[in-house]
Formats: sequence, structure tokens, C-alpha cells
Amino acid sequence: MKKIYKYLLNTLPRPLLIRLSYVFKLFAPILFRGNKVECPVCEKSFSKFLSYGSDVAHRENVLCTYDLTLERHRLMWLYLKNESNFFTAEKLNVLHIAPEQCFLHIFKKQNNLNYLTGDLESPIADIHFDLHKIPLEENRFDVVFCNHVMEHVDDPIQCMKEIYRVMKPGGWAIMQVPQDMSRATTYEDSSITSSADREKHFWQKDHVRLFGRDYPQWMEKAGFKVDIYDTEQKFEPAVIEKYRLMKDELLYIAKK
Ligand SMILES: [Zn+2]
Repeated sequence: MKKIYKYLLNTLPRPLLIRLSYVFKLFAPILFRGNKVECPVCEKSFSKFLSYGSDVAHRENVLCTYDLTLERHRLMWLYLKNESNFFTAEKLNVLHIAPEQCFLHIFKKQNNLNYLTGDLESPIADIHFDLHKIPLEENRFDVVFCNHVMEHVDDPIQCMKEIYRVMKPGGWAIMQVPQDMSRATTYEDSSITSSADREKHFWQKDHVRLFGRDYPQWMEKAGFKVDIYDTEQKFEPAVIEKYRLMKDELLYIAKK
């Protein structure tokens, strides 16, 4: 049974997995009973998480068997809980672009949020738009989430400027991307267009660039002031291990 479970989680496309998630919620607590790892999002403990990722970026023990969070989801959640007013502020206007399913139902239920989701085409989003030209008024949002988008778009600076424009002064955004920490500067090459080549060079068949350590400077170019939430500085090794975070992951908080 565990093997079937693991096989399904590793072979089914993520959107389908998420539609089947009620099945996992039923079986995971029984199959993976234990307390070696803990997911702060679903607040459940397990004997282990499952492996995840293609050949290029395969990781063991990272996918929560209950709500399907990965390292980056758990890190963002811990930031929101421990360091931000996201759960405690009286009222926040929030724009969630390309919303992650593991957060969507939680944020939707949160009474203190005016919560709007947007995407180019996803049927689960409230409104649809091209991020290069957001059809919303300026100075509207306290918080914007836009994770794993900037590696897909034509002009990230233009998209970030649009996010900046719709944010209130004092607002903050989280715009995480896959980041190759071994590169000083972002790798772009417009002659690389086939799916196979893009996967090889940029880690996924629909990525058009691979960001390097200079990623925060891209946000600064769009006008943001960037704070860094450093996993290794914030958490003891035992805690990083318990939550199965990526120890070299940096979460950027982009402030207007
Ligand atoms: Zn979980």
C-alpha cells in the first residue's frame, strides 16, 4: 500500500494530485504514522515525507503526505506565522497570484483577509490577467503572493513593477523563484526554446530563465526594498530537519 501511495504521488501530475487530495488525507495518517517529521501547515506529524522532483531536482523526504506541501511552502508558512501580521492583523487586502492549492482553502477561510486570487488562466483563480499589465487600481493591496511565476514570464521587471504599483506603501510581497545559488547572475538565453533544452538549462520545460544569487536585485530594480529571511539563521538544525526545510533557502520579503 505504501508503495502504491508513493508511486501515485510521484507519477501523477500535481494538479490531479491536488484534486485527489481527500484520498491522501484519509490514508496518510495511518500509513505514515510517526513523529520524525512535522508539517507546520497541516500541523501533523509523520514517520516521513515522500520524495519529490524530476531527475534534475530530486529530493528525498520532502512532500507532506497529508496536504502535499513542499519545503518552500513550509518555509513561507513559518515566516507568515512567526514573523508577520498575516494571521493577526485586523484586515488585510491580499492578492494571491498563481495561488498554491495547499494555501488556497486556508487563506479563503481567514476572516481577516480580503482575499483575491488571480492567474493567467487557472480555473481556480477569481480573476484572469496578464501579469505584465494587471487590470487593478494602484495602492490597493497590503500583501501580494506570486510564487514560482517570474521564471516563466517575458519581462520579470515589468511584472514586478505592476505588483509594486497595485501594492499600498508599506505593503509586502513574497515572490519566490527557483534559484540556483551556484550562479552569481541569472542565466537567460532566448535561443533556448525547445522543451528539452529548457528543462536541461532552466530546470523545467516551461522556464525561460534560471535565477541566480542576483535575484533580489531584480526586485530592487522594480522599486522594492528586499529583506531576507534566512532559513539557517532562523532555525536550529534539528528544527530544519523536523520540518524538512531546505537549509540554504532564502525567503525574500519585498517591501514597498
Ligand atoms: Zn502537511
